[in-house]
Amino acid sequence: MDTVQNYNIIRGDNCGFCSGVKRAVNIAKKAAKEGKVYTIGELIHNPVVVNQLRELNIIPVEDIAHIPTGSTVLIRSHGITVSQEKEIIKRGFKVIDATCPKVKRAHRICENLSDEFSSVYIIGAANHPEVRGILSRAKGNGKVISDITEVSKLKNKKEMGVLAQTTFRKDKFFKIISELVKKTDVIKIYNTICEETLIRQRELKKIAARVDLLLVVGGKNSSNTKKLFERACEVTKAYHVEDSDGFDIAYLDNAKKIGIMTGASTPIETVIDIENKIRNYFLKRKIKQ
Ligand code: SF4
Repeated sequence: MDTVQNYNIIRGDNCGFCSGVKRAVNIAKKAAKEGKVYTIGELIHNPVVVNQLRELNIIPVEDIAHIPTGSTVLIRSHGITVSQEKEIIKRGFKVIDATCPKVKRAHRICENLSDEFSSVYIIGAANHPEVRGILSRAKGNGKVISDITEVSKLKNKKEMGVLAQTTFRKDKFFKIISELVKKTDVIKIYNTICEETLIRQRELKKIAARVDLLLVVGGKNSSNTKKLFERACEVTKAYHVEDSDGFDIAYLDNAKKIGIMTGASTPIETVIDIENKIRNYFLKRKIKQ
């Protein structure tokens, strides 16, 4: 906790990159020292970092077809689909796999569940690259459930397997499970929500209860940051900010206790920049008094 002129800034202990993102960024930076590295999609869901990485020769491309022959391709922490994997092998690229080990685990679980069951449900955001990667391992037996309302539309199944996107909200996951069990006689559930995601969700809840303003810092395109923000709004006044430029000082508006929490792909430097902006604001106010 940091006290500034009777205002408190409470920064979450788990702010900054998660281990999977840290690992992927380090692997990419090391590889880029040898030459240009292409990533399929942005390395992480944070535009500030992606722009910095671009300057280091780490180039995101949306379509594998746009990667020049003979290039080095890095698979980001979210992983890729089976068909993308086949394509990069077919094109003969030098491949560096930085898929997070916890995402790899979800891949293996999905493969095994699809061998065992004809219906496998992946609870997560259908359009998220990680979920597309997991779904592609379900061998045609998979379906994504994003919201509890979708469960009532499902037909009853004799048996089913279930797993989650690694960054899914734990409370929502268990609510969906509680409805899915009504649809089947046999259900095998793997809680594949990453422990680091759970820790952040728990910490966010604790901080939100102690502050009158919570800044959730991370890319607007970051799924886990959006979930943290959604959760924060349920408890307190909250803003989702990408960086210090996107943090409007007017947000402080009579706030006395300011909490800061980040998504898994937010560098700690962004938090420090925002904290400095808050401190400068209070310092200027004190000088004026
Ligand atoms: S949130 Fe968890 S699963 Fe996702 S990249 Fe980070 S450590 Fe890996």
